[in-house]
Amino acid sequence: MKILVLNCGSSSLKYQLFDMENETVLAKGLCERIGIEGSRLKHQPTGKEDVVFDDYLEDHNVAVKNVMEALTNPVHGVVKSMKEINAVGHRVVHGGEFFSSSVVIDDEVKEALEKCSELAPLHNPANLIGIEACEKIMPGVSQVGVFDTAFHQTMPERAYLYAIPYEYYEKYKIRRYGFHGTSHRFVSEEAAKMLDRPYEQTKIITCHLGNGGSICAVRNGKSIDTTMGFTPLEGLVMGTRAGDIDAAVITFLMQKENLTPQEMDNILNKKSGVLGISGVSSDFRDIEDASEHGNLRAEAALDVFAYKVAKNIGAYAAAMNGVDCIVFTAGLGENSGSTRRLICDYLGYLGVHIDSYCNSLRGKAMEISAPDSRVRVLVIPTNEELVIARDTKELLDK
Ligand code: ADP
Repeated sequence: MKILVLNCGSSSLKYQLFDMENETVLAKGLCERIGIEGSRLKHQPTGKEDVVFDDYLEDHNVAVKNVMEALTNPVHGVVKSMKEINAVGHRVVHGGEFFSSSVVIDDEVKEALEKCSELAPLHNPANLIGIEACEKIMPGVSQVGVFDTAFHQTMPERAYLYAIPYEYYEKYKIRRYGFHGTSHRFVSEEAAKMLDRPYEQTKIITCHLGNGGSICAVRNGKSIDTTMGFTPLEGLVMGTRAGDIDAAVITFLMQKENLTPQEMDNILNKKSGVLGISGVSSDFRDIEDASEHGNLRAEAALDVFAYKVAKNIGAYAAAMNGVDCIVFTAGLGENSGSTRRLICDYLGYLGVHIDSYCNSLRGKAMEISAPDSRVRVLVIPTNEELVIARDTKELLDK
């Protein structure tokens, strides 16, 4: 069975084609600047040379069509015909309270997705456009939606209710949803395997630290709390997002600087985080470099970031009444030993001890805690695309 995984953004489309016989990636790629001048498709077939097609990608229909052409291209392709593709799995950002697991997409699902668009106005409409483009280009091929929010639908009310008038929850569904669910689910399942423990009997804290970041408390295989909230803005300090902040700062700033809601939103989402503090970059590599060269604001940004992660790990150890294992994943969590060290240095009270040699390694799932560490610490590369492909296969097999 061959499954195409699509992740559609407002002007981008990422894809991976899986052969589910052995869960290998046959090809992957990216369409950039859809509907904007200078658009291009970068196609990476496994075992062949990468190729860039720079035809203009007018909209997502054209992008999906060109992806199909790349996948079936006599030179750069990996399948003979589109008919070899059995199903498409879509990453969908927001499933609201409608979806607690992945679903086969039909008209009813699409209607629910439209209702969720208000909750994720930048993402869900793009996801829907991608779904409809596939319906047009590959009629009759099953499509599955895999939601960033679904894994967190097991959170209890005490974790998801905000202390604002209850009517706003009823009227607008304002509550904590959480994101990165596919990643938290994947790495926590993998962690249980590495611990050789039944998933249903573990207390795991997963730290997804990329450009966006969130932490999740996974007790007995279920998300019971997570740091992102109504939107991905809440929680950790991120590349460009502020994370938790006194809500009064927002009204204060809007008045002082005469800002519109959109301008304020832009500051909190695009100009804050480690970029805002350091003034250097949103990329942790640049900030680590600047900090090493004596840039004090860069150093402060890294410290604020790590402290915030450590505080939330403490909170979740409390929420679960203990923790067996802490997992680091995503760009920063997988690659930056120095950030992991900064965070774990706060966790001595939990009995966390890091093995410096293991912490310096990279590129594979591994344990970085020392043998005497009371809590085990793992680094596990995330693979959201594989989860989407697996869920799609499972739903089709049914
Ligand atoms: P996204 O949230 O965009 O999916 P990723 O999970 O790919 O992000 O993470 C990207 C971030 O990871 C980069 O912005 C960078 O800050 C960080 N990163 C990647 N590699 C390293 C590294 N070797 N050292 C430090 N930071 C890294």
